[in-house]
Amino acid sequence: MSISNNIMVLENRIQEALQKSADPSKKIQVIGVTKTIKPETIQEAMDLGINHLGENKVQELLTKYETIGPAPQWHMIGHLQRNKVKYIVDKVSLIHSLDSLSLAEEISKRASKINRTIDVLVQVNVSGEESKFGVEPNEAMSLAKQIESMNNVRIKGLMTMAPFTANEAITRDCFKKLFELNEKMKELNLAHAHMEYLSMGMSNDFEIALEEGSNMIRIGSAIFGNRKYD
Ligand SMILES: *Cc1c(COP(=O)(O)O)cnc(C)c1O
Repeated sequence: MSISNNIMVLENRIQEALQKSADPSKKIQVIGVTKTIKPETIQEAMDLGINHLGENKVQELLTKYETIGPAPQWHMIGHLQRNKVKYIVDKVSLIHSLDSLSLAEEISKRASKINRTIDVLVQVNVSGEESKFGVEPNEAMSLAKQIESMNNVRIKGLMTMAPFTANEAITRDCFKKLFELNEKMKELNLAHAHMEYLSMGMSNDFEIALEEGSNMIRIGSAIFGNRKYD
């Protein structure tokens, strides 16, 4: 399958899923997840309009950034260690994986040095799986409140990864819970938190995510085909 065909199919599936959501006309941001994908192939997707790219490892993001440059918006979607913040703080437009106060402090410190405010999403471990990063749902609010005092970090919403399961009800329940948490956080009206983005849904579950209120989906294999690790 060609990338252009994949993107066409993806766009159709997005529109169909939106029809089953509460707000079919809302804008959906697609993040092309480019881990393991060659720069030439990424360029092909960019030529077809994919201008938000997501990487889950700092080193890989840096390598790609060197060849592709700042034209696309870069998203850090994987677990981020504090000591690596300094390498990406001037390159990313959104960090999806904020999962601790100390990470927020480091991002704010590094961002202030370059006079930037960095947009972040609080990653929530809705399913409670031990293998997953993210804060517990009931910790998300207190973390957001603590970030209020930081000048160079701005919360833009929430992110989650659904558990790896073929059971659609479990996946849907996870997305519903993140949506509800986001609504509660909106009610807090925090000055530094604009709950605009709900980053949920990947190639295997984005339709359920969109039905449940996602407006940012992170899509790898449905655009680029199955990843080959070597
Ligand atoms: C790899 C990855 C994705 C995309 O996965 P696909 O199944 O290929 O769409 C989305 N989010 C995160 C955090 C990832 O690491």
